[in-house]
Amino acid sequence: MAVYVVGHKNPDTDSVAAAVAVADYFKKAKGLDTVAAAQGGLNPESEFVLNKFGVAAPEIVTDAAGKQIILVDHTDLAQSLENLSDGEILGAVDHHKLGDVTTPNPLEMWVWPVGCTCTVVKSMYDYAGIEIPKGIAGIMLCAILSDTVMFKSVTCTDQDKAACDALAKIAGVDDMMALGMEMFKVKSAVEGASMSDLVFRDYKDFDMSGNKVGIGQLEVVDLSILEPVKAGLLDEIKKVKADGRHSVFLLLTDIMKEGSEMLIVSDDPAVVEKAFGVAAGGDSVWLDGVMSRKKQVVPNFEKAFA
Ligand code: MG
Ligand code: MG
Ligand code: MG
Repeated sequence: MAVYVVGHKNPDTDSVAAAVAVADYFKKAKGLDTVAAAQGGLNPESEFVLNKFGVAAPEIVTDAAGKQIILVDHTDLAQSLENLSDGEILGAVDHHKLGDVTTPNPLEMWVWPVGCTCTVVKSMYDYAGIEIPKGIAGIMLCAILSDTVMFKSVTCTDQDKAACDALAKIAGVDDMMALGMEMFKVKSAVEGASMSDLVFRDYKDFDMSGNKVGIGQLEVVDLSILEPVKAGLLDEIKKVKADGRHSVFLLLTDIMKEGSEMLIVSDDPAVVEKAFGVAAGGDSVWLDGVMSRKKQVVPNFEKAFA
């Protein structure tokens, strides 16, 4: 029976690369008939990364009914496959706070507080003494550079850096920072994308004390790239909020200036000041040093909403 390895909704490069790598790992380590999967089409960054290293795109899967599943890069029901309880979860590999997925059977869990799922996967290969294929090493390297914003994010650990050094050697990458910049330039491109594409490119819904809160993020090499689309993005998140949400926030992250402008649409804009201690005059606020949704934005809002 096929075992589908799948990351979160609105797949990012870590969800895609970890699905491919974990599928390869369980095939070799446990003889499982694994299939790498994603819950939707690839974003431009992930497409660039797979092309660069000649790795095939995962199959698109959206429903878990009747399937065996291994989760990567998430354990939250809201971010997972439809009808997850009608499937069987065999394992999870992740680097987020533990979510609300439960299982009737024992499972193999690898959940570590590091900057990227692929850092955990690197250790899984090492633990089992399995060689990482060159192309897979390349996409894992890119996933770590992406999730840690080239080691600048507060989520980055020494394990992430060590994994990148080892993966770069296997993949034959001499200058990983040049590769990272090339990747972030692809990620920064907004031409041809609709406002909805941009808002949902890296978007997650959260339940905060009974309030539905959406938080999206666009990471660019220079905030001026987003100037022409800012008004359109604000209009778009107003629409997303109108669809039953208390608040929608969109982080426009400048990876060189190392901070984020946050666009705000909320029933109670005072939560922003409560969360970050800075007064938000109007529709946006600059948050200096804030680059990580997971570590610097979600926990602050969770406290502000409590
Ligand atoms: Mg992710
Ligand atoms: Mg990740
Ligand atoms: Mg990210």
